[in-house]
Amino acid sequence: MSWSSAGGPGHIRGDGAVTAHAPAKVNVSLAVGPLREDGFHGLQTVYLAVSLLDTVTVRPGEGLSVSVTGEGTGGPDPVPTDRRNLVWRAAELLAEHAGVPADAAIAVDKTIPAAAGLAGGSADAAAALVALDALWGTRATRGDLTELAARLGSDVPFGLAGGVAIGTGRGEQLTPVLARRQWHWVLGIADGGLSTPAVYAELDRLRAAGRVPDGTAVPSPEPVLAALRSGPTAALAAALANDLQAPAISLRPALRRALRAATDAGAAAALVSGSGPTVAALADGEDAALRLAAVLAGEGVFRTVRVVHGPVPGARLVG
Ligand code: ATP
Repeated sequence: MSWSSAGGPGHIRGDGAVTAHAPAKVNVSLAVGPLREDGFHGLQTVYLAVSLLDTVTVRPGEGLSVSVTGEGTGGPDPVPTDRRNLVWRAAELLAEHAGVPADAAIAVDKTIPAAAGLAGGSADAAAALVALDALWGTRATRGDLTELAARLGSDVPFGLAGGVAIGTGRGEQLTPVLARRQWHWVLGIADGGLSTPAVYAELDRLRAAGRVPDGTAVPSPEPVLAALRSGPTAALAAALANDLQAPAISLRPALRRALRAATDAGAAAALVSGSGPTVAALADGEDAALRLAAVLAGEGVFRTVRVVHGPVPGARLVG
C-alpha cells in the first residue's frame, strides 16, 4: 500500500473530518557535536517513538484556524493557536507544495506535554501533514511529506517515521532501525517546560568553561542499537546517554533529585529526555513499569507520571 493511498478519501468521516495520531519520542542516546557556523549543532541520536500520542483532527474550513485542548493549554506559556503553532506552518507548507488553498480547521488534542523534551509540537506537525494530505487529497508521497517535515523542524521527520531510527544532521536525517522487542518506560513529567534553545546555549556555556566534554568525540550508536534490538535491560540501561542532560540539570537543578528518585524507586536507569525536563525511566518489563510509576506517583516528585512503551509507529490516520 502506498503512502498516498493510505491517506485516500476513505479516511474522511461523514462530518468531513480526518484524524491522525502521532507519538512522542525519547532520545535513547543523544550526542551533540560542537556549535557549527550555521548556528546549529550536529547531532547523532537514537530516537524511540513511545506510546504517548497527540491527536490532530482536520476539517474543511475557510483559511486556517488552530485550536488546542489537553496538555499545555493553561499556565503562563500556553501552546500557541496562531502561526507559531507548528501545525499551522505544516498546513501552509503542504498547501504550497500541492498548489491547493490552505483551508482547514485544525484541532490538536495534546497528551504530550509542551516544551518537555518529548517533541510534542513535532508530533503534531507530522500528524497534521498526514491528516491534511488526506483531507485535501494532495496525494503527497511519503518522500514529499518527509521533505516537508524536515523543513518544519529537526524532530518532525521522526514524528512521521516513528519506530526506532538513528538521526544525524540536525536530527532530521533518519536511518530506520528494525527493533522487534518492546521497551517499557515511565515518563516523569515536571511542572513547567525547558526551552530547547536555552538548553543548547547552556551546553555551549558549560563546554566553553571546560565543565563537560567538547563534543568532538562522537560515540558509536552501536551499543545502544544492539541493546535496543535484543536487550537485556541492563545493557540498554548502561548505554543510555544524553549530552543535553548536564545543561538541563544546570538550568533545572531539581532534575538531579528527580533522576535519583527514579533509580531509587527501581528504574534500571533514568535519563533526561531530549532537552528535558521530562525524565525517562527505563523499567525491566511492563509490570516493573507499573510498580515504578506507582512509587513515583506516590512520592510527588513529578507533576505526573505516564507509563509508555515503544517502539510505536509514526504519524498515521485513525478511523
Ligand atoms: P523541541 O521539539 O523544540 O525539542 P520540545 O519537544 O521540548 O521541543 P514542544 O512540545 O515541541 O517541545 O514545544 C516547544 C515549543 O514549541 C513550545 O513552547 C510552544 O511554544 C511551541 N509549539 C508550537 N507548536 C506546538 C504544538 N503543536 N505543541 C506544543 N508546542 C508547540
